[in-house]
Amino acid sequence: TLVEDLRAARRRFSVEFSPAHDEDTAARQWRAVQRLAPLRPVFASVTYGAGGGDRGGSVELASRLARETPVRPLAHLTAVGQSAAQLAGVLDDLVAGGVRDVLALRGDPDGDPRATWEPHPEGLEHADQLVRLALEHGADTVGVAAFPLGHPESPDLDTDLRHLLGKFAAGARFAVAQLTFDVEDFLRLRDRLAAAGCRTPLLPGLLPVTSPRVLEVTRRLTDGHEPSWLHRRLDPFLDDRGAFREEGMRVALEDGRRLLAEGVEVLHLYSLNAASNVEGLVAELGLAGPPDPPA
Ligand code: FAD
Repeated sequence: TLVEDLRAARRRFSVEFSPAHDEDTAARQWRAVQRLAPLRPVFASVTYGAGGGDRGGSVELASRLARETPVRPLAHLTAVGQSAAQLAGVLDDLVAGGVRDVLALRGDPDGDPRATWEPHPEGLEHADQLVRLALEHGADTVGVAAFPLGHPESPDLDTDLRHLLGKFAAGARFAVAQLTFDVEDFLRLRDRLAAAGCRTPLLPGLLPVTSPRVLEVTRRLTDGHEPSWLHRRLDPFLDDRGAFREEGMRVALEDGRRLLAEGVEVLHLYSLNAASNVEGLVAELGLAGPPDPPA
């Protein structure tokens, strides 16, 4: 199972994709999938409706991964804008498509983390309820989101930790942390979990900021907490694409090395639907899985 593989993993990676909006992106994305599959990610996750993205496309891409590649898909699912019955239908579609593992999320209205959360009248209020629903509908391993700096709506870190533990109590078997460039923030969350007696796997996210456009994406993925030192390092290269790219890769490698040195075994890599940055990190950090056994 996915959770067994996460627990057994030594220096591996997982990778994240988002459903493509047009055919060109879809084709580029699928080439990326084919290049990354031989590196044996522990899973490939597919976002759901993030930033207004397409929901049907998410189920489709996750199912295609299950059908056409040896990579294990992890389908993100959010409670936004759907009743519990509709969510159950999506879960049934996933299982029918061969997708057994789910990242259960509450989501944000219109994908905007600053918008006020309003549950669907017949829907779910929090991610822990979606964890339970997923398990009732045939999901195998369910994961959840964790927030090194606390979720923006949480009054304090203790409350935030209690809710994360509540999601584990509901049956979640691992968590993926919100993207952070300050490794210390991730490690402090790991320490808080350990202090609470929790040994559930927690994956850090890693995103090489290799262009000014990616810096924009970063702002969204970190809930606006991209650190000022990142700007100090990258802003001098705003007019030099090559140098910007190199510096962004250097930052990601420094963070990756630090996480591995701290005993983190699986790094969650954001692909932004392209292969080369992920390939670079996997090669430099030695994250490829064992090759296929001979048939
Ligand atoms: P919850 O766990 O429900 O938490 C939301 C808030 O409620 C927190 O403040 C929490 O402390 C509190 N809370 C939790 N449980 C309870 C409870 N039982 N009682 C009272 N309060 C509670 N969004 C997308 O739209 N699509 C995606 O694909 C996507 N992927 C993501 C992947 C990762 C790794 C991360 C970190 C986030 C992702 N998001 C995605 C964003 C996510 O949906 C938002 O951050 C959302 O605001 C919170 O989701 P959650 O699952 O953590 O919610």
